[in-house]
This record gives sequence, C-alpha cells and structure tokens, in this order.
Amino acid sequence: MKPRLLLHVCCAPCSPHVVEKLREEYDVILYFNNPNIHPKTEYENRLNEVVSWAGKEGLTIIVENYAPEKWFAATTGMENEPERGKRCETCFDLRLTTAAGKAKELGIGAYGSVLSVSPRKDAAIINRVGERAGYTAGVKFLTTDWKKKDGSKATVRMGRELGFYRQDYCGCVFSLKERQEKAQKKEAKTIQAELS
Ligand code: SF4
Repeated sequence: MKPRLLLHVCCAPCSPHVVEKLREEYDVILYFNNPNIHPKTEYENRLNEVVSWAGKEGLTIIVENYAPEKWFAATTGMENEPERGKRCETCFDLRLTTAAGKAKELGIGAYGSVLSVSPRKDAAIINRVGERAGYTAGVKFLTTDWKKKDGSKATVRMGRELGFYRQDYCGCVFSLKERQEKAQKKEAKTIQAELS
C-alpha cells in the first residue's frame, strides 16, 4: 500500500502534472485551502473546476472553509509588496501552515503543494515555508521545484488538453489589480500607436 500524502492545490490548471507524478509513489489526497483568492466568485470558479476534475480522477479532496478575513489580517501592511515579495511569503505560510496542521490532524505523515509549478513562484521560498510549517506540525514537507524537468510546460499542456478554466492572475486582490493595470497600460499603448 502506498503512503498517503496531503497535497495542497491552488487551482485545477496547476495540478494535473504534479498529481500524475506523485501518484506513482503516493496515495494523494487533495487539499483546497486558498483564502487569498479574490473575489468570491473567482474562488468558486477555481474550486468548482478542481472539485470536478478530482471527481473524474477518483481523487479525494478536502475543502477548507473560505476565510478571506484571515488572509487580509495576515497581509495587512503588505498591500504594495510586489509579487514574489513579503506578501507572497506570508500568503504561502498561511496556506501551508494550515495544510501541515490538517495532515497532522488526519494522521498523514507527509504533505506538499503544487505552488512551485508556477514559473512566477519562487520554489526556494515555498520550500522554506513548507519545511518550517511541517517541522512545527510534526509532518514531513515534500521539498520540490515542480517547474523543473519541463514541469511547467507539461502543466500548461495538460491543462489545455483537459479544457480547464484558466485564470490570468495569481489570486489575491492585489495581483488582480496589477493585472488590470497592465492591461490598461497595454490598451493605452495600442491606442497611442493607432493615433500616431
Ligand atoms: S500574488 Fe499570489 S502568492 Fe502573492 S500574495 Fe497574492 S495570491 Fe498570494
């Protein structure tokens, strides 16, 4: 019998490649705990997609209550931090600490996360936070960088094949704002080019 592993997932598109790899060695149980996602409709879109996919794959998924107030409380004062900065570390910490605690509560000896598969996320920070949370809870964190060995490419390809809904921002209100500002700048440039 394979050992169990609790895998924190942030959305469906980031998950299939990581899950395929981990299933070779583990009995994978998904854990959706993402109080960072804003607004609630976006949270529901991501949750519904991952729950639907888990059902098709025969995977068990545990869904934590949506508690954005905890996320906002933890990141107060970090509103202007860039992506990959202090706010992101706190965001990882909040989600992975809860995941480590859940693994301990369920008697699962190891946990991990799909987060490092994103080219926009720093695996070193995720691993440091995950190991610290695991140590505190008394469970092992699976230290990895899922981007490696073309992991990000495989993830994008599988997400397309599976026809997943794919968001275009990381998740929090600040990353949404950043994406909107970029889109506005791009639009302004296009208009300027057309007028010149
Ligand atoms: S950009 Fe992403 S990782 Fe960083 S704080 Fe926002 S949701 Fe969390």
